[in-house]
Amino acid sequence: MNNLYPIHDSLVSRQEKEKLLSQQGMVFWFTGLSGSGKSTIATAFQRTLYEQGYFAEVLDGDNIRTGLNNNLSFSEADRAENIRRIAEVAKLFCQNGIITICSFISPTIAMREQARTIIGPGDFVEVFVDTPLEICEQRDVKGLYARARRGEIKGFTGIDSPFEAPINPEIHINTTTVGVKEAVGNLMAKVRSTGYEVRGMGYEVRGMGYEMHSEELTEDEENIASDFYAPYNKKSVQNLIVWQKAMQITSRLLKMVEEIKEFGLRDQIIRSSVSIASNISEGYNRGSNKEFIRYLFIAKGSASELHTQLLFVKELYTFNDLDAILNDLSVLLQQLGKLIQYRKSHGF
Ligand code: ADP
Repeated sequence: MNNLYPIHDSLVSRQEKEKLLSQQGMVFWFTGLSGSGKSTIATAFQRTLYEQGYFAEVLDGDNIRTGLNNNLSFSEADRAENIRRIAEVAKLFCQNGIITICSFISPTIAMREQARTIIGPGDFVEVFVDTPLEICEQRDVKGLYARARRGEIKGFTGIDSPFEAPINPEIHINTTTVGVKEAVGNLMAKVRSTGYEVRGMGYEVRGMGYEMHSEELTEDEENIASDFYAPYNKKSVQNLIVWQKAMQITSRLLKMVEEIKEFGLRDQIIRSSVSIASNISEGYNRGSNKEFIRYLFIAKGSASELHTQLLFVKELYTFNDLDAILNDLSVLLQQLGKLIQYRKSHGF
């Protein structure tokens, strides 16, 4: 074949990869003193992302200094080179759609600006893990502050080498007032703001682990899930939280859709919203766990479709209730996911 097209026309684009992963690549650059909580929050953040079906990787001193950068010292020049290489790696990850969490002290503004420039300002999210030196020193997780105070480590950030706090970080976590869970919540909000808040259906079709995450059911969901085999008089689809929620969403939507002029879209919305509750009910009445899971999957697919349709409506109209409905729908999707997970693990 002749080479009529430049190679990048045939390479899979970033957008295509992001669509495949149902997520947007971005780099969360954690900066803060040693012991401020970067690794702790980064690890919890990655775990939450994974459990919600996102693909994320953490780059930190351990996996970079021992490998790619094992020929670098802590001299000023080598510290700059360390950050430059990390930023280049993060950029590669990010451009492949991966949510990349970099956890490095990176003490100077210039270093972080260099990273921002390499990665690209649109993909770079500076996260300041803000913990006062006294507290980091009290924690002294790795015993490094004590050694630095004894003069055994020279140029230790915060002791005899400066830390320049970010002036205007995208995310500021004050760990003296914000716990790890809340910090992760703030970071997740940033990920969701990319418009990929509902995980793609394709993932389940490939039979991967997304549904198998270990998140615990709330007490309510536990009751509802076990209600399936509860005494006969209590056994009714009306008792299922997921069914109730689906019905609520449908009835609120039916009022709204009358104002939608695009009839095709209106039809689709009605069809997917009705399909959620009716599939839950159909599966529930089949009496077999396996069948129930199958119908729950279909209901979940319809809920995903409905979500996409409503995001489209949001582009066209301003309905007061729409954000609340979208929010309820996200909750319903999570509940359906958990119920499926529960059913799978309890093979009745
Ligand atoms: P770094 O990676 O910044 O060097 P680490 O995450 O290794 O820091 O250590 C931070 C320590 O502080 C951990 O022992 C962690 O449990 C503790 N810690 C206490 N409160 C918080 C908080 N709100 N956020 C993060 N870490 C906290």
